[in-house]
Amino acid sequence: MDLLKHINDNRYIGYSYSYPHKMAYRHLDEPIKISQAWEKENKHSVFLYLHIPFCEMRCSFCNLFTLPKPEEELINRYIEKLKVQAETIASELKSFTISRVAIGGGTPTILSLKQLTTIFELIKKHFKVDFSKVPCSIECSPATVSEEKIAFLKEIGVTRVSIGIQSFIEKEYRKMGRPDSIETVKNSLSMIRNARFPQFNIDLIYGYENQTAQSLNYSLNSMEEFNNNEVFLYPLYIRPLTACSKTMKQWSDNRIELYELARKTLGRNGFNQMSMRFFRKEEELKNTLPEYCCQQDGMIGLGAGARSYTKDLHYSFEYAVLRKSTEHIINTFCSLNPEDFSTIKYGIYLNMDEQKRRFVIKSLLHIGGLDCEFYFHLFKTNVLEDFPVIIELEKLELCSVSSTIRLTSRGIDYSDAIGPLFYSNSMKEKMNLFQLS
Ligand code: SF4
Repeated sequence: MDLLKHINDNRYIGYSYSYPHKMAYRHLDEPIKISQAWEKENKHSVFLYLHIPFCEMRCSFCNLFTLPKPEEELINRYIEKLKVQAETIASELKSFTISRVAIGGGTPTILSLKQLTTIFELIKKHFKVDFSKVPCSIECSPATVSEEKIAFLKEIGVTRVSIGIQSFIEKEYRKMGRPDSIETVKNSLSMIRNARFPQFNIDLIYGYENQTAQSLNYSLNSMEEFNNNEVFLYPLYIRPLTACSKTMKQWSDNRIELYELARKTLGRNGFNQMSMRFFRKEEELKNTLPEYCCQQDGMIGLGAGARSYTKDLHYSFEYAVLRKSTEHIINTFCSLNPEDFSTIKYGIYLNMDEQKRRFVIKSLLHIGGLDCEFYFHLFKTNVLEDFPVIIELEKLELCSVSSTIRLTSRGIDYSDAIGPLFYSNSMKEKMNLFQLS
């Protein structure tokens, strides 16, 4: 294979950040109890992720597991069921320490203040989380935040707020399916800025239909007045079953040009690049945080769309995009009993080879890189012997190899083509055979 050509041709095929993708999950031959799956895990540093699968609309590019415009009654039933799931899982795990919490979606701030309060209470009660010590992140959208909700999140100890804006240009914003206005966007950003959360992230997209270098630059510079210290900058991917896939058939792809421009603008504005998509301003945080290693430590997922990870088993409920299918999965979730929540029925086992691949992908695609000694310590093999393609990438100056293997700046640009080089054939086949509905 001509590796350089392959990487160039596949630069913008799809996001590569988690492995294996949920599309590789299947019904397990034999369901397994959560207590058994977690028996041998180190539970001293566990990530807790709670998923709210509801949004006020469906953005035109989005293929996440979420239900737009849900009935209030369904949200209430969902929250009631989260309580049952939380209690069941906590008792299955017995002893554990939560070191990170994230509430994602969907759009968690679609919940009322009362519903949000219930969510935080259940985390505190069942998972013994002290929000003054454990970092907690929450996702939101412009039209669903309010002064009241922001004050509540600040008061309870949320440390990171992330908001999907995508563009500061009204025409682009509307085209992406957002019903509200840029005025609403700016009001919500002002509220978050004024609350001074330690981490404040804004999501933007580049490569959308008719977006130009000028309009993207305008969006990038418009963030400045809101003092966000993080940016996730997503390339547009046109994915099956999204509105974009129907409307953007004749599309002039300028993502490379826009990405180059965005990197320069963000650099000028004081942001450092941490990965292909993630940019951050230097800040002090860190040393006081509880330890968590994203390549290795486990994750407990709560909710219909959340995944959970142990070292050798990743699991969740089923994945879908279309309204009928997501609604069905959420309704099924709402009808489950404690016994169902204590048993894993859908997921994928990771043998040692797959665990190595996951470790390499998660390490390499981040600026921190891959620590060869740590890899050896974990797997008792040499990473360069396991994955000779790394040497090929080095020859192409896409990564540098020493005690730490790091993508070069050019390598970072090609992250979404480099990640899949480490996918196994069996995972690729499973993902290809997945019937998306
Ligand atoms: S991009 Fe975010 S806000 Fe838009 S539909 Fe998807 S989950 Fe909801």
